Amino acid sequence: MAQASVTRRYRFCAAHRLHTDHLSPEENWAAFGKCNNPNGHGHNYIVLVTMKSGAPAAAGRVLDLNRLDRIVTEQVVSRFDHRDLNRDPEFADCTTTGENLVLLIWDLLVKHLPSGQLEKVGLIETRDNYFEYAGGVGKVE
Ligand SMILES: [Zn+2]
Repeated sequence: MAQASVTRRYRFCAAHRLHTDHLSPEENWAAFGKCNNPNGHGHNYIVLVTMKSGAPAAAGRVLDLNRLDRIVTEQVVSRFDHRDLNRDPEFADCTTTGENLVLLIWDLLVKHLPSGQLEKVGLIETRDNYFEYAGGVGKVE
């Protein structure tokens, strides 16, 4: 049975600094380069949330996009917009990389959405950096 997907786009602006206390200052610089700047820097993040449509095309749309918008706004946009990601409790012990952020966004959304409907979360950090998670293995620290 053919099943289409729907992707909705959301935005938030946030600051962060790529840094880990597990590395020396020199190792941090080697690993993260200018993103290790002590003063931090900002991104205009774009979040792409892909949902299974939930029904064959002939049956029409089952997915409630208004509900999806509300959940993403409450769980993701309001939480991160105009914030310093390094101060978020979820990042107390892990670095605010795009990989970790996209995994966190998945975790924040999946528990509020109908089981099995969240297909993929994408995160555009810069013009050239895109991160993606489609469920599966646990969070990477
Ligand atoms: Zn950055």
